Amino acid sequence: MSQPEFICVRCSKHQETCCQTSEVYTTLGDIRRIQEYTGKDDFYEDKLPCDPVYTKHDDDPIWYETAMQPDGKRRVLKRRENGDCTFLGSAGCVLPMETRPILCRLYPYDFNQTGIKTYLANGCPMELLQNGESLVLALDMNKKDAERWHHMLYQEILEEPHYQAKQSAKLPAQE
Ligand code: SF4
Ligand code: SF4
Repeated sequence: MSQPEFICVRCSKHQETCCQTSEVYTTLGDIRRIQEYTGKDDFYEDKLPCDPVYTKHDDDPIWYETAMQPDGKRRVLKRRENGDCTFLGSAGCVLPMETRPILCRLYPYDFNQTGIKTYLANGCPMELLQNGESLVLALDMNKKDAERWHHMLYQEILEEPHYQAKQSAKLPAQE
């Protein structure tokens, strides 16, 4: 019996995928890794969130202080006119896993600063899972990688220049 297609391939035939509908926040670390891999630096922009859902992080105050800039913008990957991510190719993402923005690697794990949550984010077509398949297994994801990426993410969001400037302003002046 032939193997079913990878869940993301099945998804792309069924609905718009996460790479076609998401606005992806990128850390400065993401930018460095992608620049190193692609040799380009024109793939991101600062932008007000296209969907209010990106501003809802009530259980994650550090996210507001870092990923969200004081003017409400976020550093995100550019998208094409049709909404596709600039790195979406005909066979999926053109970036290797460890070069993709950390948020892409973590999806659909949901999380806050404390850690990975016990439930997954909405968006993947659960109706395409076969014979009791779990989504995490179908996506070939594992918790160990997710925890490593989560740690990286919360280290890298602290590098945001506006956050660093705020932290420096809190330090007592040197004599
Ligand atoms: S991660 Fe989920 S939403 Fe994204 S392409 Fe795969 S199945 Fe679809
Ligand atoms: S960087 Fe890759 S995985 Fe992330 S949204 Fe773009 S195409 Fe999808």
